[in-house]
Amino acid sequence: MLRVQASTFDTRAIICAVAEKSRAGEEVIGFVIQRKEWDKMQDFSRTHTYPPIAAVGVMHICSAFKFVRCDINYMSNRDSAADYEVVVVGGGPAGLQAALYTTRLGHDTALVDRGGGRAAMMLDTHNVIGVTEDTSGNEFLATATEQVESYGGDVIRDLITEVEQTDDGQFYLEGNANAFRADRVVLGVGFSDEHPDPPVPRTGKGLHYCLHCDAYMFVDRPVYVMGAGEAAAHVAMIMLNFTDDVDVLLRGDEPEWSDETDEQLRAHPIDIVEADIDGMNKSDNGWLESFEFEDGSVRQYRGGFAMYGSNYNTALFETLGCELSDDGTVIVDESMETTVEGVYAVGDITDGHNQIPVAMGKGAQAGIDIHYQLREFPRDLETIRTEGAVADTDVPAVSNRLREAAASFEEAQAPPIDTPSPTTDAEAEAIEPTSDDWSPLIPISSRLSVFFMTDWTQSQYHRKQSRRTFLFACAN
Ligand SMILES: Cc1cc2nc3c(=O)[nH]c(=O)nc-3n(C[C@H](O)[C@H](O)[C@H](O)COP(=O)(O)OP(=O)(O)OC[C@H]3O[C@@H](n4cnc5c(N)ncnc54)[C@H](O)[C@@H]3O)c2cc1C
Repeated sequence: MLRVQASTFDTRAIICAVAEKSRAGEEVIGFVIQRKEWDKMQDFSRTHTYPPIAAVGVMHICSAFKFVRCDINYMSNRDSAADYEVVVVGGGPAGLQAALYTTRLGHDTALVDRGGGRAAMMLDTHNVIGVTEDTSGNEFLATATEQVESYGGDVIRDLITEVEQTDDGQFYLEGNANAFRADRVVLGVGFSDEHPDPPVPRTGKGLHYCLHCDAYMFVDRPVYVMGAGEAAAHVAMIMLNFTDDVDVLLRGDEPEWSDETDEQLRAHPIDIVEADIDGMNKSDNGWLESFEFEDGSVRQYRGGFAMYGSNYNTALFETLGCELSDDGTVIVDESMETTVEGVYAVGDITDGHNQIPVAMGKGAQAGIDIHYQLREFPRDLETIRTEGAVADTDVPAVSNRLREAAASFEEAQAPPIDTPSPTTDAEAEAIEPTSDDWSPLIPISSRLSVFFMTDWTQSQYHRKQSRRTFLFACAN
């Protein structure tokens, strides 16, 4: 039996090495790799066929924070679908918050995300208490992902393409590379903004989509609002709360707003510019300075908003039969459950303000409601009367893998006394691994060797350091 656990190494080498052992008739029980390597490996394993790995073992040498379990020959079909209590689709603020709750409340949870989304577009984060303004969307999401993983949630990169409710009331979800079965489904799939035609500046540097996030940076600055619909007219009038210099840029389109809105708009000190944009000027740091128009005029702007509408990602909801509103959002109750029992919608895909704190609140609401529905205890009297009292062996209800994650988490929070943890960054930097921390290469076969390394690891989220031993594998 070969157990391979790996950290930073060449992914292809490890796949080849494992496949070689498997071909040679040795039982390979699985391996654990870092998340970013898993992404690379998925790409690679899609195009290469290897003998099946018998099972995926739970490796417990390393921090549960750092690794995910995986099976390289995972088959995306019903027989091999991975079982979870909760599958969350969408790794934006709403989905991540829902997954954090269900995981920490003891339910086996997978979060599946294809990457991208609105939060990932943020150059910096506004309006979120406790998150500094210079945090980018990707940094925000990476920290949140680490939080979910640190408590034992699985975060998987994939695009879910199919979902259906099965006869037993469960849900089956299939992606490009994975399949899942779940008791509850949370869809935090968001929407994408309709983008204006070029030339336009970079998003976040003069082109903006989020009024409540970015209006503040345009106080007393010249601002444009691009678009010809009701929303463009209204946002232009709203911007007069922040500055006295607002233009609506029709870009050659005919206004589509109502006569009433037209009357209202023209009663505000706003210029309506009909000509399309021909070119633009930007400062050295990429920020918009001015637009050049087809009529030869040049207008200076600090930035502005594009208002061309939203494309809601409702395909999965429609497959499941969830009801939608006329505006394209998904109808939910106060617990964020859709009109299909067991299916939740969270974040921008639902009605309401499109803001991170709001999306997170919706995710939290769904996560807690799901816990109320799925938790085993207290067992109700009717069941106790028919099936008897709760046995010692029935508790705790939490799964073994979440118990293991909880144990690792506790250990990282309070490392053993004989492995003192540095408490400050300066102390952490002062402790460099010495050569003694590396074991010699230990050949496993003619093709595969392993070695150990002991090092300090730091969780970005927990800001804790602990000493851990890693087992690396490498192809000879
Ligand atoms: C440029 C910009 C700047 C912003 N700045 C701020 C700000 O400073 N402060 C603030 O509060 N709000 C801001 N917002 C708004 C904020 O980003 C959104 O309200 C928030 O991201 C909504 O979260 P969500 O989880 O609902 O959706 P999203 O963040 O859009 O996440 C949805 C996720 O679902 C994934 N997904 C979709 N379909 C599938 C599928 N089938 N399978 C797998 N994954 C799928 C997407 O790839 C994406 O990762 C900004 C928005 C934009 C566009």
